Amino acid sequence: MTGVSVDPASIDRDELERHIREIGGELAAAFPSSARHPMRALDARAMDFASSDQQLKAALFRFVDVTPACRSLDDLARHLRDLLEEVPEAPPPIAAAMRIAHTRAGRTALGAAAAAGVKHMAHRFIVAESPAEALAGLRALWDRGVASSVDLLGEATVTEPEADHYANRCDEALEQIATASPRWASRPTLEADSSGPIPRANVSVKISALTPLLRADAPERGRRDAAGRLRPLLRHARELGAHVHIDMESLDSREAVLELVLELLIEPEFLEGPSAGLVLQAYLRDSPDQAARILEWARTSPRSSPLQVRLVKGAYWDHELVQARQHGWPTPVFEVKAECDRNFEELTVRLLQSRPAVRVAIASHNLRSVANAIAASRMLGGEDRDLELQVLRGLGDELQDALASLGMRVRTYCPVGDLVAGMAYLVRRLLENTSNESFLSEQARGTPLEVLLAAP
Ligand SMILES: Cc1cc2nc3c(=O)[nH]c(=O)nc-3n(C[C@H](O)[C@H](O)[C@H](O)COP(=O)(O)OP(=O)(O)OC[C@H]3O[C@@H](n4cnc5c(N)ncnc54)[C@H](O)[C@@H]3O)c2cc1C
Repeated sequence: MTGVSVDPASIDRDELERHIREIGGELAAAFPSSARHPMRALDARAMDFASSDQQLKAALFRFVDVTPACRSLDDLARHLRDLLEEVPEAPPPIAAAMRIAHTRAGRTALGAAAAAGVKHMAHRFIVAESPAEALAGLRALWDRGVASSVDLLGEATVTEPEADHYANRCDEALEQIATASPRWASRPTLEADSSGPIPRANVSVKISALTPLLRADAPERGRRDAAGRLRPLLRHARELGAHVHIDMESLDSREAVLELVLELLIEPEFLEGPSAGLVLQAYLRDSPDQAARILEWARTSPRSSPLQVRLVKGAYWDHELVQARQHGWPTPVFEVKAECDRNFEELTVRLLQSRPAVRVAIASHNLRSVANAIAASRMLGGEDRDLELQVLRGLGDELQDALASLGMRVRTYCPVGDLVAGMAYLVRRLLENTSNESFLSEQARGTPLEVLLAAP
């Protein structure tokens, strides 16, 4: 590819802004009409409801923490009631729910009602309950020009058997997708770039789910334990020709995750595969240093396929802020959204400039961030196939279709899991989506396109 020789300082700011507005405008025009999605309006009302009351939001946040430990609908409803009781002036539907949750029958009914509501919402965010059931959905995406990465839900692993179970589920998902996907139609945009073929089967893995021992104060133990489960997964992915992507979680596990992945991938047995990737979080103030470390590794790596770096802003912003304040630590995340967005744009250029040592995936639902990536990639002389855009199922569906219609490679992150495991994921996405500063909330409020596309 030609882009690497261009000095990023030579990107003309005015021209970049002009391209961003142009590309942003094209993307916005390619969004499918929301009138065709009547269920979306319903979900939007649920989102408004959740964001209208700070205490309700706080209760939902705590609900996220306890949900993975719930074993039944009754259990789920009891926790929901306990937490909602802390909301001082509960809105009428919640007050009614709390009254019925005082009896076992009532709790079961509440649990079932919550489950029905969640099922409807879950359908939007979760592709299926098992990898086998997900195959039809993944194929439907592929047929409309969209690649996928499957995420097996079930983030809280507190015992060794739970970690084994998670590893087995990832392994099964790899096997099932790699077996089914060769029958999918040819989609050149999705399956090759200048560096070579891109696997159809792609699974995203959380290290915290691969070991119960991941602790900031004893990183070595957690790393060793997780490595024991990650190695067989990498081996299997290599045999199947599949891609394994390692998600990034909260800051307390970052060092362990990064070291584990960078060490394992250069073990002799993994030099020829599998295709693999990791995540860089732009909301962290020290992310430019992390980028430098990852890029240095990639440039000197003896591996045959380039590491894919997925650039995100970061999903644990509230957690990092609260944790730092509780301990009196300096906050590791930017506290001004525009600073985070500017850093994201700068890191985007830096990653694009580092091709072909890395494959670049820009994961965002923010039209400005995405348009910046496409514009900068082109101005650096890159081909569109050397940039991947990624979205989350349920949050980025319109953007996904718009990107695919413009011929870009887009990959949708598809959570797979049962209802209880899906709850934590759902509520987290709901809260993220209802934050005032979220791009999607701004877009939903009807902010004009030129404001949405303005430089941060
Ligand atoms: C395919 C895909 C995979 C992902 N994988 C991961 C992953 O592995 N790990 C992970 O952590 N996240 C992951 N994310 C989530 C991602 O980090 C973001 O939370 C999410 O995409 C929202 O960012 P945005 O650019 O879409 O929207 P925007 O609305 O532009 O940005 C919202 C983000 O900005 C940041 N932010 C919000 N308020 C402030 C503030 N006051 N000051 C500074 N920053 C602020 C937060 O990070 C927030 O999530 C993934 C996202 C996608 C699309």
